Amino acid sequence: MSHDTSDRNLRILLASRPERAPSAENFTLEEAPVPEPGEGEVLLKVLYLSLDPYMRGRMSSAKSYARPLEIGEVMEGGTVARVMASRHPGFAEGDIVLSYSGWQRFALSDGTGLQKLDPARAPVSTALGVLGMPGFTAYAGLLTIGKPKPGETVVVAAASGAVGSVVGQIARIKGARAVGIAGGPEKCAFLRDELGFDAVVDHHAADFAEQLAAACPDGIDVYFENVGGKVWEAVFPLLNTYARVPVCGLIAQYNLGDAPPAGPDRLPGLMRQVLTRSLTIRGFIQTEFADQRPAFLEEAAGWIASGQLRYREDIVDGLENAPEAFRGLLEGRNFGKLVIRVAAE
Ligand code: NAP
Repeated sequence: MSHDTSDRNLRILLASRPERAPSAENFTLEEAPVPEPGEGEVLLKVLYLSLDPYMRGRMSSAKSYARPLEIGEVMEGGTVARVMASRHPGFAEGDIVLSYSGWQRFALSDGTGLQKLDPARAPVSTALGVLGMPGFTAYAGLLTIGKPKPGETVVVAAASGAVGSVVGQIARIKGARAVGIAGGPEKCAFLRDELGFDAVVDHHAADFAEQLAAACPDGIDVYFENVGGKVWEAVFPLLNTYARVPVCGLIAQYNLGDAPPAGPDRLPGLMRQVLTRSLTIRGFIQTEFADQRPAFLEEAAGWIASGQLRYREDIVDGLENAPEAFRGLLEGRNFGKLVIRVAAE
């Protein structure tokens, strides 16, 4: 077996459920021996771990589309890993695979769900970002639900992130006008100057709602919702008749707990607008569009090769830094697709 037997596994477990923002106490770092693969199994060494907003939901026991993690379980997560030893006919030592190994350095797999990656095709970390789940989420949600047409205005929040950056660029590829909402001048400059967004608005600005209205003089035809909260409040009055709203995420709300906020009931007013402006507001989880994945991979690879689709990764070294990096993701401290480099390639 080629792994160094002096290696130890490091695993990060859910220690307790956060009520609001996660803290260091919600995680346990635990050392364990490197496991030995049984017949039909492979031993994986994790190279990259993807950190994604959905992990906040898995830490909570609130009912959702996926089962919550149990206390004491290894934190879930998509990973890129190297096969260190194989007793599985489909995989050889040295293969690089996309796996779902979670927040740990080593893992066993029986091969279920593993996908081989070709390091000559693209940097393997992109399988967690622009060519992975977040890129696919942007593609499927925007094109299937948002259906942008040439000349229309598409607005996306968390626009410099893994999903949002792809949404805005695909909107432009389809001939629409892309307006990005992001936190801070650096992210806004990146969207305008590097990714070619047509307009950008900083949601930290005191007059954010006015700036957004000025950036959308013809109203909004597609709003790709990643955030919720005050961003949604500013967007909603600008939606045009027949506007489409793919509801992908509500990250501004993930740390707020489950109780509804105090205040007047504004649902009747919202429903009246849905009716009178013929709005389509449609939530989705990317897995429902799984049959579009081959088409996405082909198109996205072509757009990357032609320079129409660019990406930025925010790579943090060391698995032990995952809890703090994850806290930062929920506060906008990441700049680009957040990935933990667990081991050198
Ligand atoms: P990301 O955009 O790379 O990172 C999260 C970003 O959200 C932060 O950088 C920050 O950007 C913004 N943010 C965080 N807290 C915020 C707040 N309170 N108010 C406003 N903005 C805030 O993350 P991602 O992976 O691309 O995910 C984006 C969204 O897509 C999330 O809501 C996620 O849950 C959702 N998602 C859904 C699916 C699905 O199947 N439905 C799949 C993947 C992702 P700024 O600094 O620019 O504010």
